[in-house]
Amino acid sequence: MDTVKGFDVCIIGAGVAGGAMAAYLGKSGLKVAVVEKSLAEHDRIIGELLQPGGVIKLKEMGLGHLLDDFDAQEIQGYGLFMNGDCFRISYPEQDGHAISGRGFRNGKFVQKIRQYIIGLPGVTVFEGSANELIEENGRVSGVKYTSKQDDQVHVIEAGLTVVCDGMFSIFRKKLSSGDKKISSYFLGMVLKNCDLPFKNHGHVIVARPSPCLVYPISSDETRMLIDFPGNEAPRKSPELIAYLKNEIAPQLPVQILPSFLAAVAEAKFKVMPNHLIPAKPFVKNGVVMVGDSLNMRHPLTGAGMTAAFTDIYNVGTRLIAIEDFSNTAAIDESVRMFYNSRHKQNATINILADALYGVMQNEDLSVACYDYLKRGGNYAQQPVAILSAVSRNVKMLLRHFFAVALYGVSNIIKPFPTIPRLKRSYNMLKSAVQIVSPLVMNERPGFVVRYAFRIAGALF
Ligand SMILES: Cc1cc2nc3c(=O)[nH]c(=O)nc-3n(C[C@H](O)[C@H](O)[C@H](O)COP(=O)(O)OP(=O)(O)OC[C@H]3O[C@@H](n4cnc5c(N)ncnc54)[C@H](O)[C@@H]3O)c2cc1C
Repeated sequence: MDTVKGFDVCIIGAGVAGGAMAAYLGKSGLKVAVVEKSLAEHDRIIGELLQPGGVIKLKEMGLGHLLDDFDAQEIQGYGLFMNGDCFRISYPEQDGHAISGRGFRNGKFVQKIRQYIIGLPGVTVFEGSANELIEENGRVSGVKYTSKQDDQVHVIEAGLTVVCDGMFSIFRKKLSSGDKKISSYFLGMVLKNCDLPFKNHGHVIVARPSPCLVYPISSDETRMLIDFPGNEAPRKSPELIAYLKNEIAPQLPVQILPSFLAAVAEAKFKVMPNHLIPAKPFVKNGVVMVGDSLNMRHPLTGAGMTAAFTDIYNVGTRLIAIEDFSNTAAIDESVRMFYNSRHKQNATINILADALYGVMQNEDLSVACYDYLKRGGNYAQQPVAILSAVSRNVKMLLRHFFAVALYGVSNIIKPFPTIPRLKRSYNMLKSAVQIVSPLVMNERPGFVVRYAFRIAGALF
């Protein structure tokens, strides 16, 4: 078998996470090998709205230029829609400056990152499928891959292997507890020349039975994602078309209806599963997971890329600081420290995504949430600071989460409490606790929070 040696790092996968990791390490002077299954531009419905927190992380890594010159659209905030009503929330300012996210075609963004890494002198990209991690004396020392060029198995040796092979990772099972749940499916379509009610905004439509997302991905294309709860993927059929026309269309803002109906008629749908994969990695010397292979949350809040960039910044900065990359102890310590601390930065992102999805599934909670955010001021600005990943304050997130539930109770029991109204309020509070408790427990809470949730679990 052909073996290539001399790399500091070997990255499996050149998607959003692997590509950005190669860019950050490569431009900082490390010798990086990247193995990517296919270098062709893909057409996917995932990873198309980057929250401002993700834009900020890219800039902190000196990679802000990766968002330029491929028709990415500025995103300034969100519009919310429910039962014919709507309002808008702008992203908060940071240090007196306006912040924004980006909407783009995932394939175009990934190609932009790949173009950049291919041009870096320290980065070598191999097209092929990684099949196996190589171990020597209990330490991962590289990867075996089948080259697309000659269909032969080759070996790459490196001081550290970074697994970034995405949501269908073939390495996850060996490197983590591998817990995995499908929460729902997103059916995606492109709306052409759509007249968005709020230009340069993400749109969340609180529809029944499940929410829809709409946001610009180029100057003339808008992505629409429609959620299908449960673990059965929607299939193209006359029933599906009828469902979209009769159940979804009447809940949409009128401005987008013409382009929505045209897209339904065209029926170029793509479907993706939405996973919940808590990060529970095993520490194994010589290897680290980053991106969807490590951790996934519901894409309702568009946070996966921001979580990945946050992780890349955290682990990458530690790796770049290592003076001698033949010091395997220093590499393994960096990975250990990263795994032990990453929840501090990503807990809000993870909890909010699936908690908000749970809220949207519950009729009373979704109404309470919509009305709560509509009050404006800190009721809207602080939750949006968390959604945009500008704030990573877990206590603030939990305070607003339970304030939404209590606000819902105060509305339900109006004008005065009756037995049925109290029962309904109790059920709503119970749902709120049941939605958020397991998500908080996944994020290594401190003793006080853990204890408080145990008590709440016993009460409800
Ligand atoms: C429906 C949906 C919508 C989403 N929308 C958003 C959003 O709007 N905003 C957001 O921030 N996040 C969103 N996400 C999440 C986001 O897409 C992911 O978090 C992000 O793409 C993760 O990047 P990654 O590099 O880990 O995986 P990917 O981007 O999927 O990259 C994995 C790469 O690994 C390669 N690969 C796989 N196996 C191998 C192998 N064996 N050998 C070599 N290469 C391999 C693949 O070809 C691919 O290039 C969404 C997710 C879903 C499911």
